[in-house]
Amino acid sequence: MDKKKNNGKYQAILKEWNGNLMKVCFGIIVAAFMVEIIFFAQYMITKTGKIVPESYLLRYVLLPTIVNLVSYYSCRALLKSKKFSEDAKRMLTLFLFTVLVSVIMIIHYTFEVLYAIIVIPLYASVVHAKKKVTKSTFLILIPVLMLDMVIIWFTKEEGIHNFIYNVVVTYIILILSYFLALSIVKFENQKEKLIMEQSAQNAKLQQELLYDGLTHIYNHTGMYSILEDYLIEKEENAPIFLAVLDIDLFKLVNDDFGHETGNDVLVRLGELMQAISDNNVSVARYGGEEFCIMFRKLEKEDCYAILDELHKEFAEQKYAVINRKITFSAGLAGYEDGFTISALIEKADKCLYEAKNTGRNKIVMRE
Ligand code: GH3
Ligand code: MG
Ligand code: MG
Repeated sequence: MDKKKNNGKYQAILKEWNGNLMKVCFGIIVAAFMVEIIFFAQYMITKTGKIVPESYLLRYVLLPTIVNLVSYYSCRALLKSKKFSEDAKRMLTLFLFTVLVSVIMIIHYTFEVLYAIIVIPLYASVVHAKKKVTKSTFLILIPVLMLDMVIIWFTKEEGIHNFIYNVVVTYIILILSYFLALSIVKFENQKEKLIMEQSAQNAKLQQELLYDGLTHIYNHTGMYSILEDYLIEKEENAPIFLAVLDIDLFKLVNDDFGHETGNDVLVRLGELMQAISDNNVSVARYGGEEFCIMFRKLEKEDCYAILDELHKEFAEQKYAVINRKITFSAGLAGYEDGFTISALIEKADKCLYEAKNTGRNKIVMRE
């Protein structure tokens, strides 16, 4: 259940990440468009450089913006489709990033330092902490970079100094970035594993904190935690009852048959109690040979019937070395408006005290 809940949370984070990435992509498209328009305006005002306005607008503004927007909106549409797996969606946004950085590289091919931005999708892939995603991104970037370089070579209007060296250096940067990205992914995975182990350990500790080691039903802390939940979730007029049970003359059982045998009796009662627990009936061992049953949304007759049945069943139990009947006394008390947990326990305890003082092996109830 928790796993399912966490998975749902993870899907929400992934969706948010993809959404943010898409926003960044849109920002890049708008920024690239604006920069080109500003350059164009500057050219037109100062008349510096030999540019043909129509071909400039086509090559630097119109064409790249169309490619960018078509890629952006196709990616958005595909992301909404339910046909794609989560991994495919991860790749889709990374691929859009690849297209955008390629367009920037191709347009601004004279700024050779910009070739290195081809590694951005690789680092963006690291966030998924999946070797497969980073590897696939790298495998896409190798031919894309080659294609970018070929386009630059065949469409360039100005000469590029040492073009082949630029290509080689960009590939070296890409390969080194790939290995760095892989090591970050590996580190993230190790970190994730450690966190998982720690949270499993925490869950185990939490469990141990609330449950009794001998009978495996709730312990004293667990009982309080359940009662708190009952009170918090209580609907108006929905009854809450608490029964406290105490084994009769248990000290004698220990004295006559040994502590271990005494433990067997406690375990048996724990098992019988476990069998009656459900959504609205919780059971706990809240002291040595003292137990309790917490009832909610059940009328007093039903609570009494359940307790009475348990009382009879326990008395009928047979044990290997015990040759006498073992019973318990119980007090059953109803929650009253304004009660604290302690007040409810006290009321049930008083009933139990009365049961003990009037002959044991009985149930005393107070609404
Ligand atoms: P009463 O009918 O008045 O409740 O008599 P009692 O003998 O049950 O009551 P008392 O409180 O005098 O004794 C409780 C005994 O429960 C004493 C203690 O040794 C025993 N006990 C408490 N915890 C454990 C346990 O974990 N295992 C075993 N075997 N005995 C325990
Ligand atoms: Mg006792
Ligand atoms: Mg007792």
